[in-house]
Amino acid sequence: MKKTKIIATLGPASADKKTILALARAGVNVFRLNFSHGDLNFFAGIIKNIKEIRTKYKIPLAILQDLQGPKIRIAELKVPVMVKTGEEIFLTEEKIQKTKIKSIQVDIKGMACCVHKGAKIIINDGMVQLRVKAADTKLKRVLCVVTAGGLIAGRKGVNLPGVDLPIPSITSKDKKNLIFGLKQGVDIVCLSFVRTRKDMEDLRKFINKKKQAYPLLIAKIEKPEAVRRIKEILPVCDGIMVARGDLAVEAGFKNIPVMQKHLITAANEAKKIVIVATQMLESMISNPFPGRAEITDVYNAVVDNADVLMLSGETSTGKYPVKTVETMSEIISKAEQEIKKQKQGLPAFRETDEKIKNVLSYSCAAAANLIKNSLIMLHAVKLKDIEAVSDYRPYAEIAVFSGAEKIYNSLAFFHGILPVWARDKKEALATVIKKNKKLEGVVYVDFYASKNQAPYMEIIRVNKNTIK
Ligand code: PEP
Repeated sequence: MKKTKIIATLGPASADKKTILALARAGVNVFRLNFSHGDLNFFAGIIKNIKEIRTKYKIPLAILQDLQGPKIRIAELKVPVMVKTGEEIFLTEEKIQKTKIKSIQVDIKGMACCVHKGAKIIINDGMVQLRVKAADTKLKRVLCVVTAGGLIAGRKGVNLPGVDLPIPSITSKDKKNLIFGLKQGVDIVCLSFVRTRKDMEDLRKFINKKKQAYPLLIAKIEKPEAVRRIKEILPVCDGIMVARGDLAVEAGFKNIPVMQKHLITAANEAKKIVIVATQMLESMISNPFPGRAEITDVYNAVVDNADVLMLSGETSTGKYPVKTVETMSEIISKAEQEIKKQKQGLPAFRETDEKIKNVLSYSCAAAANLIKNSLIMLHAVKLKDIEAVSDYRPYAEIAVFSGAEKIYNSLAFFHGILPVWARDKKEALATVIKKNKKLEGVVYVDFYASKNQAPYMEIIRVNKNTIK
């Protein structure tokens, strides 16, 4: 089993049941629905397909809802507009105004009040770039000079690095989509363009008010201020996504490698999930083989300790969705084999507020490393305990059992976790022993033993001849 998990974004190239099943068999653990594109009927259809596949084939699969957040976009345009370097254009907040120079509408109010002369405006991930010459707050428009010309199509993303825009972190569109997602029982919710700890606290409050089954919450880190505040953001979420697409635009492309490494380390230390996303195998959108730099990128993300890797356009609109996942799975497996060969031992013990759980998480990883052909087993009561064990990166698999469908599917998201469908310890042990003929011992951990018993760890001998 590969330990690093894969998220695949679903879209027109992959929304049917046959492709979803093929993607799951190729190594996908989590399916992502990107709520920046598509309507609710489309998403309802995909969710139905995923649920049918996971029930029929008994494959644990988590569903991830990615909310657009305060992302600014070009408004719907009837035809794309070509702009040339050196040309002056207006970006307007209102419907297109008749002016001598080209005028393009963006879907945000209050932009003219916030931008300053000289500010950079980046469209379509940097394909078109503008510099602000003057802002007219009365006419609600901004005069810009084009610094890198190109085609501007409707709904393309607009970034204003370093400009504090007056948009709420959870927009009304996000709220509507979130209510839909909660009703559908999504397992994970990502919020885009998180800026502060409060953004994630507000998301949690909104979900709690709706009294819906509780999804895992992921902060998408795509603004430099979120990178700076990562130590404040991590405690109030279940994990983070290194969203390299927008982060490269907002923070400057050369800063991506150092920020990625910093964010992975910070998440590992806080015992939170970390996803590395965007353009991991981008060239496979149109080619059946990956670029050499892409192979190294995937490999290095695993070696650097990412928990999950994400595919976007490769699986949503690309020509080779299944081949891309097979390729990613192969690179991950190779990286994990090398890590196992080279590994000296466990990562250093890290202090946390939960001393006993932390000591047990470390101890079970150490014990499993010392017992040949063993695995770690625990009962999934609280999902946050799972990451504590996983982040010590034991060589052995961590079999986590649950008899609750929601928890069982969410387990697919965690690094090194083998989800086991079972109601109790006896049933879980029987399942793993039946599946693994070479198994010699199980390191069993119980964080929630009973009222009168402290959490404990025990070593269960599967093969009494080899474990004395
Ligand atoms: C990103 O910017 O890298 C990202 C994952 O977000 P989105 O795909 O929503 O642009």
